[in-house]
Amino acid sequence: MKQAVFVNPGRVEWRDGVVVELQGAGEAIVRPLVVGRCDLDVAFVRGVMPMPPGSPIGHEIIAEVLEAGEGARVKAGDRVFVAAQISCGECALCRRGATGRCQRVPFGASYGMGREGGFGGGLSDRLRVPFADAMLTPTPPHAELRSLVGLADMATDAWRGVGPHIAAIPDARVLVIGGMPAVIGLFAAIMAKSCGAAVVDYVDDDENRRDVASKQGVRCIAIGQAAPAGYDIVFVANPTRMALEAAFAAAAPAARVTSAAPCIDGSPVLDTPALYHRGVSWDIGRPDCRGLHSGAMEAWSCCGFDPAIVPATVVSWDDAAEAWSSDDLYVVAARADAR
Ligand SMILES: [Zn+2]
Ligand SMILES: [Zn+2]
Repeated sequence: MKQAVFVNPGRVEWRDGVVVELQGAGEAIVRPLVVGRCDLDVAFVRGVMPMPPGSPIGHEIIAEVLEAGEGARVKAGDRVFVAAQISCGECALCRRGATGRCQRVPFGASYGMGREGGFGGGLSDRLRVPFADAMLTPTPPHAELRSLVGLADMATDAWRGVGPHIAAIPDARVLVIGGMPAVIGLFAAIMAKSCGAAVVDYVDDDENRRDVASKQGVRCIAIGQAAPAGYDIVFVANPTRMALEAAFAAAAPAARVTSAAPCIDGSPVLDTPALYHRGVSWDIGRPDCRGLHSGAMEAWSCCGFDPAIVPATVVSWDDAAEAWSSDDLYVVAARADAR
């Protein structure tokens, strides 16, 4: 079977030869139909995040079920979101929703991220899903799959940073510091607007991304214009110390700060006495893709969050390997039979 692999920075190519079969009860084999290029893929492809050469790539996946193992509730033909991270749904951490840290697989096991476990990547003809009931969720009927694929992965990251907090904080003021991960930052800003935040400010030095945000009624500002200690919710989609320091400086009393990426240029200098007195909470870490999925779906179904607002370059399946290295904001690969 064919799969796309990361070769070196700037190069992804199709390779043949891997055999993917069911290995036990409760598993499924799926055929990816639509795969979105996650911002993390961009970091891999550009060499910002390390990835071993030859690693299968792609993890924002909608697929159809080809085969279901004994005891799995899915059946052949079902169309499903596939959780990017391998999670059993039953261990202590999965039961807490920490599905990105499942205890039954090598730490961090995932599709398409160069992690241990050999689970392959989304840009492939067949993927083995070891815990079908836990990892697969049905796509909404009659949905346009290529418009929804962001809900499989990147929207879960945005959701954890804004969704639950907006629900808990009346008239929430939200600041999103964008840049990279680019689409996740835009998803967070647009989702915050959809979910009813009183104020959504977006900071980014990229005019194209500011344009996407401002068309949704999000106010785009320069970082120096962010109100000091004025935001109840701050989402940092920017991997620099300066961005994180600015985020904490802008955090209001009892604010929630979420980092969608680690700092890649060293550790920030934090005014811990000020943060202590303000009572600021900070969430950093890989999002728990499966544990957060229902939240992202709620933002879509109840709040009208539409991932397709961020314009994607839709490419044919055969063109995906080359497109994964492009400079486009967002890329979605769709098979001809994906509706
Ligand atoms: Zn991702
Ligand atoms: Zn688990």
